[in-house]
Amino acid sequence: MKLYVLDNGTEILDKSYLVAGANSATTDCKNPDILWQEIPIHTFLIDHPHGYILFDTACDPDFRKNWPAFIEKQSPYMVSEEQLLLNRLEQLHIRPEEIRTVVMSHLHVDHAGNLSAFSNAQIYVNDEEFTTTLRQYALRQDMDVHVPSDVEHFLAAGLHFRPVLKEEAFLEIAPGVRILNLGPGHSFGMLALEVRLPNSGNFLLAADAIYLRENIEPSISPPGILYDSAGYRKTVRFLTGYAREHNCRILFGHDMEQFDTLTKSTEGYYD
Ligand SMILES: [Zn+2]
Repeated sequence: MKLYVLDNGTEILDKSYLVAGANSATTDCKNPDILWQEIPIHTFLIDHPHGYILFDTACDPDFRKNWPAFIEKQSPYMVSEEQLLLNRLEQLHIRPEEIRTVVMSHLHVDHAGNLSAFSNAQIYVNDEEFTTTLRQYALRQDMDVHVPSDVEHFLAAGLHFRPVLKEEAFLEIAPGVRILNLGPGHSFGMLALEVRLPNSGNFLLAADAIYLRENIEPSISPPGILYDSAGYRKTVRFLTGYAREHNCRILFGHDMEQFDTLTKSTEGYYD
């Protein structure tokens, strides 16, 4: 089994979205400068004897045309041709039709962009995330960072969704690969993925359940983008406890400092 880290570009945004109250005003500094922070957009590919497993699907390559205008202003996306997810897979000689399983951490715009390409895969998504996103879409409600075009594309593609229900806390989807159903927190419903590798050790892909190391160390500092703050804290405690107990290295959702230290798919893999 091999775990590849796919670099799919970067976004830049106000740091207070990542850590609420970052650089807050004080009487000493009444008008602090806004801190802009660059964050990685990444996905993971597992080359498993039972078939390819993809964790998250990055951003829509036609984002300039399809995204609501506020996203480009709030968190502009920068990506080169070689960083696009389908090109990253092609560099590994993998066609999207060959992906057998997709696990979606959640359906936000920077995670669900290419989902419609994986028409042969079984797609695991938290049930609440799936139903609430579809409900908002059908009722034409404000969807914020779940974008209507992503939903349109995946509905049109006739994908094979497998909602992960509330009572399914853990799902071993292949030997050494386990979904952790985190419930609500960062979004309506989050999934994480544990990957146990014989040589490189155990990884816990936390995605946006923990954006940055700074969100958990030295204590819990929640992000500014949050659906359920109590759920978020519960999730963080669960993930950090799980990682300790199962000897896992947590891979954060958007931590540039950590991302810089990882072996990317163009350089090698974890096994
Ligand atoms: Zn994200």
